[in-house]
Amino acid sequence: MIAPQLSLVRDRIHAACLAVGRNPASVRLLAVSKTFGAGSVAQAVAAGQHAFGENYIAEGVEKIQAMRCLQEEAARGGLVAPALQWHCIGPVQSNKTRLVAAHFDWVQSVDRLKIAQRLSEQRPPDLAPLQVCLQVNIDGGANKSGVAPQDLAALARQVAQLPRLVLRGLMSIPEPAPDFVAACAVHARARALFDEINASGALPVPMDTLSMGMTEDLEAAIHAGSTMVRVGRAIFGSR
Ligand SMILES: *Cc1c(COP(=O)(O)O)cnc(C)c1O
Repeated sequence: MIAPQLSLVRDRIHAACLAVGRNPASVRLLAVSKTFGAGSVAQAVAAGQHAFGENYIAEGVEKIQAMRCLQEEAARGGLVAPALQWHCIGPVQSNKTRLVAAHFDWVQSVDRLKIAQRLSEQRPPDLAPLQVCLQVNIDGGANKSGVAPQDLAALARQVAQLPRLVLRGLMSIPEPAPDFVAACAVHARARALFDEINASGALPVPMDTLSMGMTEDLEAAIHAGSTMVRVGRAIFGSR
């Protein structure tokens, strides 16, 4: 089931890019495997998917370790076992930063300086710097995580200074929109913030990742300029 569903998602991304004159290679697919086991991840890997997103830290770390064992076993058996890339996309509390820094390659859900500082301090020296996106609360839901748009530029400047992090971009999770036009409009606001911060010259290196779009709204997100869509249900099934 997973291979054909993955292929349908790739077709959707391809079609959405062509519809707005974008190069399909400019949008990466992150497979969101939360609540699904290593067996499902292994099927996606066999179908050529190498980047995975997890929301819950303990569950994610367990899966990362299980997949490392599977990949090592495959490599010993002479099979091609590509390195997997793991993205933390769920809320990170202070008491979880050490685990996240030790196991994930990316964290897309950074929304305050204290968490970023801890991740930088706790990133093990033998690993590459942690790749980071700032989660922006683009539609202002009061109970939602994410930095407020008006505080984003200052946070980006500070995070960009941290030695063991690389600031790659922005991530947003807007509320479901009633239709395509409304979905495009909300994603366009995140795109505008992204462009504004890059154009301001405040960062030593411009951001290259705009992570937005999920199963329901990936076409709208690509229309607005997303460079990474995070898709769970359309690949793995309903949760
Ligand atoms: C669950 C989740 C996704 C994937 O959502 P689907 O609707 O299953 O595609 C993407 N991003 C985040 C942050 C999530 O929590």
